[in-house]
Amino acid sequence: ALRVGVLAVQGDVREHIRVIKSLGGEASAVRRPSELEQVEGVIIPGGESTTMDKLTRAFGLAEPLRELIREGFPVYGSCAGMIMLADTIADPSVDLAGNPQQTIGGLDIVVRRNAFGRQRESFETDLPFEELPGNGSDVHAVFIRAPWVEKVGESVKVLAQVEAPDTPPAEHGAHTGRDSARAQPVARIVAVRSGNLLATSFHPEVTGEHRIHELFLSLIAQRRAEHVGAL
Ligand code: GLN
Repeated sequence: ALRVGVLAVQGDVREHIRVIKSLGGEASAVRRPSELEQVEGVIIPGGESTTMDKLTRAFGLAEPLRELIREGFPVYGSCAGMIMLADTIADPSVDLAGNPQQTIGGLDIVVRRNAFGRQRESFETDLPFEELPGNGSDVHAVFIRAPWVEKVGESVKVLAQVEAPDTPPAEHGAHTGRDSARAQPVARIVAVRSGNLLATSFHPEVTGEHRIHELFLSLIAQRRAEHVGAL
């Protein structure tokens, strides 16, 4: 079986473990660097990215993860996990000492946290999603204070987008709720892949949607095959 670790410093760890097991994979919680050596891919779950960043560094996991990502290690980040994989956060939180939150990085994207704003703090919708195994029907996506992707680099493939009201950036965070903020909807990027890094703004692990985890397992299987071939 493919061995998948779920970063377990904070967030919805158990749901991802359940989905991976239901697909025939082995899934374990990862809290220390030695546990990273036992897995072939890692899921970074949803949660709160500021806390996750602090704990990931405190547990000594951030550097080893960066190193693995440079070598092509598969990582899937959902929601806060997407933020953790982003090279750049448009609106990082800043602690009392003035230090902005950090990320593990590796994905050449700019993310905006809590991007959908107060009006749509949480919502569900069905989305077309590229590269999925199976019949290619829409994905039921649950967004919970979700980020969106504001910019992608050349190496990044957009897998899914959602229509959202065109809120000018100045309105973000301020949440004035002015009518001017409710303009024409625009398509916002909510799922991307770059090599073996996969990220979604939403939470497939809570809806019984397993195809995104299947896609992730196929990235891991492919990498395993390449490594065996290289021996
Ligand atoms: N808003 C959260 C953050 O910035 C992410 C929310 C989630 O993971 N459901 O980290």
